[in-house]
Amino acid sequence: MSSAEFQFDPIVPFLFVVNKKKEMLAAMRRLKREAGIKKFILVFPQWNGESKLPTAIRAFEKFGDLMLEVREHLAEDGIEVGWWCSPSLSVGPQPLNEQKHPFQKIIGIDGAASRTANCPLDKKYIELLSGYVQTVVKRGRPPFVFFEDDYEISNHDVVKFGCFCPLHLKRFSEQIGLGKPLSREELEAIFRRGDELSADYRKTWARLMKDSLVELADEVRAAVDEVAPQTRMALCQPGTCDFDGDITEAVARAFAGSTRPLVRLFGSDYNSDAANNFPGLSFHFLHSKQTLSNDLELIHESDPYPHSRFFFSAAKLRSLITLAMFYGFDGSQTYVTQYTDGPLEEEGYFTMVGQSRAFFSGLRRSVADFHMAGPRILYRPFAHAYRPIVGNRAPNVVAPAWASVLGRFGIPYSIKSEAGPVMVCGEDILDLSKDELMELFKGGVFLDGLAAFYLCKNGYGDLIGAEVTNPEGTFSDSIGYERLTELTPWREHTEGERMYYTNLAVTVHQDSLVFRIGDLNESAQVLSEFVDEFDQAVAPSTVLFTNRLGGRVAINAYNLHLNSSASIYNYKRKEQFRGIIEWLADKKLPVYADKDPNVFVSAQEHQESGDKMVAVFNMSLDPMPQLTLMIDALWKKKYAYCLDDDGEWISLDIKWTLESNKFKAEISRSCSTLHPLVLRFTDQQI
Ligand SMILES: [Zn+2]
Repeated sequence: MSSAEFQFDPIVPFLFVVNKKKEMLAAMRRLKREAGIKKFILVFPQWNGESKLPTAIRAFEKFGDLMLEVREHLAEDGIEVGWWCSPSLSVGPQPLNEQKHPFQKIIGIDGAASRTANCPLDKKYIELLSGYVQTVVKRGRPPFVFFEDDYEISNHDVVKFGCFCPLHLKRFSEQIGLGKPLSREELEAIFRRGDELSADYRKTWARLMKDSLVELADEVRAAVDEVAPQTRMALCQPGTCDFDGDITEAVARAFAGSTRPLVRLFGSDYNSDAANNFPGLSFHFLHSKQTLSNDLELIHESDPYPHSRFFFSAAKLRSLITLAMFYGFDGSQTYVTQYTDGPLEEEGYFTMVGQSRAFFSGLRRSVADFHMAGPRILYRPFAHAYRPIVGNRAPNVVAPAWASVLGRFGIPYSIKSEAGPVMVCGEDILDLSKDELMELFKGGVFLDGLAAFYLCKNGYGDLIGAEVTNPEGTFSDSIGYERLTELTPWREHTEGERMYYTNLAVTVHQDSLVFRIGDLNESAQVLSEFVDEFDQAVAPSTVLFTNRLGGRVAINAYNLHLNSSASIYNYKRKEQFRGIIEWLADKKLPVYADKDPNVFVSAQEHQESGDKMVAVFNMSLDPMPQLTLMIDALWKKKYAYCLDDDGEWISLDIKWTLESNKFKAEISRSCSTLHPLVLRFTDQQI
């Protein structure tokens, strides 16, 4: 489908209550009529019921027959019906009472066995799942099948880091060439050690998890190919996709067989109507969109779980879909119904979809061939191998802290942009090779305290202009607050020197960490410093340095991942980080939000036409009667437009004021909470 023809055409999961067939069909028809929804996936087998009994196969046969019946009923309405195979690794009979499990269960790093999830290496389970899926496809002929995101290893009831079953231990030991298998206890000890061998083993382990999931998908695909090779089978990307070995593309291809690979990328919130966590929620789907191969069809997980506006507003759902379309997604798996026998009781979501289809379609058509702008946030899918393991949990981080920091500061970011500095925090730095590190040091790089600490530990202190150490306990206690020094030139909209009242990160947030920046190179500049309660300097908190390779380096002393306090989110910090990023890049940011807090800005440009596009999301609960953006002179164009609710570009009045080489754009448009504005700057009239 060319982007010029793009139509927003969501796929809606639907729980079809069998004893209310008439009502269910009527609900689906109403969704078509009122919201233009014409693709559904029926939810089955769920987590209980007949599919858990020894006679489970009968439940799959009946579901296949139901699928066919529903499809035939709705075909003349132009409605397509597929299957939402949920769950996936947890299907199959459960043992009765004290019986032994019929399949190898997934085992956690602490030896705990999952109550429901089966190990994908178990041949009996491979046969069972392949048989079930083949049965449904043969009888029901669904055009598409989605496998729920429990298609993963490291997130099943009690198992948060797996699978340490005998089959996996044996396979792992063979792979690394050991004569006899390591025991779970031996492997656990190595994994927790945190040395080089530990990281190597953990990466190999993650790849083994991926291979197991790929092999199972291959088998399921082969079974379906025997009856319907044209059926599309899709992966619902789980949140542990990278922890389990960066599975997304390989598993999607295995499920797809000879059809076009299709993936639903995760990126929603559960049980929360918080607005300002938007950047954290959406970071990983931007990463996936920018790093997966172009031939994959990518749709967004637009899931307002638990599918009721008591927990999740339609505005938030609309915002997430808007961002997915802005990033160039091919569609959305949109949850607009309740999983009850009154699926349309909640009208908010499907009404929103009906009213926003033209907007989503117009937006997605407009972004074809645009490229993201702004500093690059480093994210490495295998960085988890370097992260300490706490308890029995996977140390899985799917959004670097920089996403939240830049997002709430109104600074656009990207994953792949060539120009601009690289924002690095935590263990991601440890996954870079020596050559990659040297490249990094030649350009501009912004390090959080933990990343700087790791670099110093590995002997790179001279290239970052300081020795960053893990301070003794009394260091934190001696910090009263943080203040700007006279070397800080960026003070727009700020007053005074103190960044916050008291040291919120260390004294209030007990689990926050701060590092000591010491042994500064004499050419390093201290922009802000920690001081004690008598106003005496304790240590630098933010420093700049130009190294011998000509690269520019900035360090902030906090572990950003563990800090969401006012010591990061304050007006002085917003200006400080914004100024530092421009200094690191030696050029202006393309665009950023002027003063207002929690305004998420995303930006992209078209290389040939020079057109620019900016999406602005107000994540504050305060309305913004007027939007003010600061725009690089190169981004200012003759005409400005705003995308209206019908998906059309309408001319926009902007008051432009030139302020030290960049333009202040005052846009007389209100921007209410999670009601995004999409702007376009161009030299051609639309
Ligand atoms: Zn296993």
